[in-house]
Amino acid sequence: MDCLFCKIAAGEIPSRKVYEDEQILVFYDIEPQAPVHFLVIPKKHISSVGEITPENSQIVAHIYEVIAKLSQDLKLENGFRVVTNCGEEAGQSVPHLHFHVLAGRSLAWPPG
Ligand code: 5GP
Ligand code: ZN
Repeated sequence: MDCLFCKIAAGEIPSRKVYEDEQILVFYDIEPQAPVHFLVIPKKHISSVGEITPENSQIVAHIYEVIAKLSQDLKLENGFRVVTNCGEEAGQSVPHLHFHVLAGRSLAWPPG
């Protein structure tokens, strides 16, 4: 499949890795929007949150468990934001499920 994040998950395109296990990969965003900005992706292709089902939703719990652990390891105790854009109007540019983790500066709410 011609999917950028499937290629990154397979190691065919290099990335700056934060964490990896059998199910997921965490790597720094190439265009950071905050002092800390990394992406969490399932290795298995899921297009977006719109494609989460009872059969594949376990990966979402696992992703959040790893985010919690990384927030401690990386000392994000001042706060962090988890964002997943779904579809064109929300600004999803890569059609492979990913969770942005942003930290290290004050983040506006509501988002633009
Ligand atoms: P989206 O716009 O779909 O919510 O998020 C996609 C993110 O992937 C963007 O923040 C963008 O900077 C990042 N990105 C796009 N291509 C690459 C790449 O080749 N490597 C890395 N590390 N990040 C990428
Ligand atoms: Zn993919």
